[in-house]
Order: sequence, then C-alpha cells, then structure tokens
Amino acid sequence: MELTRRQEAILEIIKREGPITGEQIAERLSLTRATLRPDMAILTMTGLIEARPRVGYYYSGKSLGRVIAEKLHQTKVMDVKSVPVVVPEKCSVYDAVVTMFVEDVGTLFVVNEGGLLEGVISRKDLLKSTIGAHDIHKLPVSVIMTRMPNIITVEPEDSVWTAAKKLVAHEIDAVPVVRPVAGSGGEKGLEVIGRLSKTNIVRLFVELGEER
Ligand code: ADP
Repeated sequence: MELTRRQEAILEIIKREGPITGEQIAERLSLTRATLRPDMAILTMTGLIEARPRVGYYYSGKSLGRVIAEKLHQTKVMDVKSVPVVVPEKCSVYDAVVTMFVEDVGTLFVVNEGGLLEGVISRKDLLKSTIGAHDIHKLPVSVIMTRMPNIITVEPEDSVWTAAKKLVAHEIDAVPVVRPVAGSGGEKGLEVIGRLSKTNIVRLFVELGEER
C-alpha cells in the first residue's frame, strides 16, 4: 500500500497538527477540499488516520505494516474460503485424477461413509502412485492419501493469518475448513465445510493491494 506524494504530505500535516479540519489541510497545501476528498477517503480507509465529527482528522498512530497485519488477523477463514471438493475412500486414483481436472483444484479431501474427514490427496500423491506398477483404476485413494490424525485443518473462525502460517509451516497447498461433529454412528469427527488454499491467500493479498 504505497501512498502518493500528496497523501504523504497530508499524513505529515495530520501527524504534526492533528486534530485538524479538512479545510485547514486544504489551506496548508493550497488546494481545495474537493481535490483532497479522495485522498482523505483513502487515508481513512487504510486506518492511518481517523476522523472525528466537529474535531477533525487525527493520526491513528498505526504504521502501515500494523494496519495490514490487523487486516490479516481480522479477516476470517470463512470470509475467503472456497467450496471443498471431496471424494469417498473407495474412489480410485484414476477417478481422483479426473476429479482434480474437472473441479480444477490441486487438493482433494477424502471422507468416510459418514461424511467425516479421513484424508487429503495432493497432486504429487497422485503422481507418486503412478510410478509403481499399480493399476490406477483399481488402486483406492485411501492407500495413497495422507490420513487422519495427521491432517492439518482450520476452523471458520480462525484468522487468515493463522491459516497462512499453517500452510507455510507444514509446506502444504491447502487445508480443509472443518467443524467438529458426531458421525452417523455417534463417533466424533470432522465435517469438511470448506477449502482454504494458497490461491485464497493470494486473492486476499491482491485485494489488500487494491485498497491503496
Ligand atoms: P503437492 O504435493 O502437490 O505439492 P502439497 O504440498 O499440498 O501438494 O502436499 C504435500 C504433501 O502433504 C502430500 O503428501 C499431501 O498429501 C500432504 N498434505 C496436503 N495437504 C495437507 C493437509 N492439510 N494436512 C496434512 N497433509 C497434507
């Protein structure tokens, strides 16, 4: 979020003299209030300055980095997640490859008959399985998947920051968004309600950049 020279100048004035009215800022810069309006809107939106009615603008005291960090911590997984693509345990490696292409995703989540999370399959898991002398039409994904309890998950209320940290720490492309539930037989498990991938993070990154 790079500020324009004029926005930097406004910020300096507000830091030095705030609280200060829009009228006064315009005077200092020999510009009209109308000219400054878009800049004031941007500076307020970024959280760098705050406006109080009848008092004026004042510096929020937050650095640009802090403002971005706040946004990442405030944005929840549920605000950016995608629809999950799930396959049953008995799904063949061949069908999993087809599903990946049709659904255009890089990670599939494997669920048991009760619909609870059992495993994760990545593109490389599928590639690996083609190296051996397996018949990929007969080989079930349950043989090659990474399975519970070793699955890294997130919950809808988690922050995007937490999710991104997990992706980096575990060197994975996506995590299932889950909710703890009791399965059909009363057993405890995780229901898959979404998918959070690196793409979601990159999209948010682009959105943050557009707010400049
Ligand atoms: P790729 O292998 O296609 O680069 P990943 O980096 O996501 O994709 O996967 C690396 C390995 O980690 C794979 O074996 C995969 O099964 C496993 N994996 C992927 N996502 C998760 C997850 N959320 N939890 C645990 N293991 C995962």
